[in-house]
Amino acid sequence: MIAAADPVVQESALALDAPAKFGVQIERAVPLAAMTTMRVGGAADYFATVTQTHHLLKLVRWARAVDLPYLILGGGSNILISDRGVRGLVIHNRCRHVRIDAPPCCNVVHDDGMYLMAESGAAMAGAARTSVRAGLTGLEWAVSVPGTVGGAVVGNAGAHGGEVKDCLHTALLVDAAGEVQEYTNADFAYAYRTSSLKQNRHQENGLPQPLRAGFGPVLLSANFRLLPANVDEVTARADGFLGHRRRTQPVEASLGSTFVNPPGDYAGRLIEAAGLKGACVGGAVVSELHANFITNPGGVGHATAQDVIDLIQMIRTTVLTDFGVSLDVEVQLVGEW
Ligand SMILES: Cc1cc2nc3c(=O)[nH]c(=O)nc-3n(C[C@H](O)[C@H](O)[C@H](O)COP(=O)(O)OP(=O)(O)OC[C@H]3O[C@@H](n4cnc5c(N)ncnc54)[C@H](O)[C@@H]3O)c2cc1C
Repeated sequence: MIAAADPVVQESALALDAPAKFGVQIERAVPLAAMTTMRVGGAADYFATVTQTHHLLKLVRWARAVDLPYLILGGGSNILISDRGVRGLVIHNRCRHVRIDAPPCCNVVHDDGMYLMAESGAAMAGAARTSVRAGLTGLEWAVSVPGTVGGAVVGNAGAHGGEVKDCLHTALLVDAAGEVQEYTNADFAYAYRTSSLKQNRHQENGLPQPLRAGFGPVLLSANFRLLPANVDEVTARADGFLGHRRRTQPVEASLGSTFVNPPGDYAGRLIEAAGLKGACVGGAVVSELHANFITNPGGVGHATAQDVIDLIQMIRTTVLTDFGVSLDVEVQLVGEW
């Protein structure tokens, strides 16, 4: 493994211009805050944006070949990047193609379904909206969920009673050996907001172990099985979900839900009952609209990741003291803490 502490050795060993030969530019020291929904965090040592799946595949294989750890950044809506940033290569996934397919004609059994194929960097909400416009049901719960298809499939995103687990048919990924594999729904071993691909769920003192760049599997595309439905009904349902979201959740920069709901209760209810709405540390604030949301109303350059962690710890301590409930953090911590 290349020593991250020695950038000179690292760069000379890396031949950073090699990916340009297959159409990908590697940049150095790129700030990541603006690429996350919370708008906090430091820089990536190395950074590349990919817009085509074959570039993503080649880049991952190249990074493996030169022993450069990588981390896939989707919509940055479920991660808190540390102020010290990420060592290694951050790959910003903007592979966004989405299309609707009929069932494969080689299917032996009759299939009433239709299939939505989405590249992993496509916006999940956009893919869902495409399915709604086509009069398909199964993905309309996702019209209000931020982030990419990759992030949603890895984290089993869900809302309004639906989740990825219910409609994912198959997905293509690069496995740990650099080979492209087709995974079926069962291969993901889905459970609440997690899958076999989700890394670092282990919590210590309520905080997940930080996730660093590594050599993990990368999702390339997903294939959702949906059913034909009345387009007006499915559109009304999707619009209802979106309207509900706009009424109940803050519009400022945020992490989404900060804590997992404890069994039989809601993290937001407990935080509100502890009188913490509006509490702040530095630029990080507990939302007045929904207490399970920590916001960064000032945007990039205001709250720091440390502010957010300090506020999280303050909330945890208060809720534990007041109600005896230990809250677990929902989002992934990324980088050097
Ligand atoms: C305002 C707000 C509301 C939200 N509401 C909901 C909700 O209702 N329901 C819900 O489930 N979530 C919700 N979330 C959380 C978030 O939207 C989801 O977790 C989302 O699926 C994350 O996708 P992303 O692309 O942003 O992932 P990121 O945050 O970019 O990444 C998350 C993790 O997935 C990994 N990853 C991403 N893409 C790939 C890939 N192609 N291959 C391998 N690994 C990958 C990353 O490396 C990282 O470890 C909300 C967040 C916000 C900010």
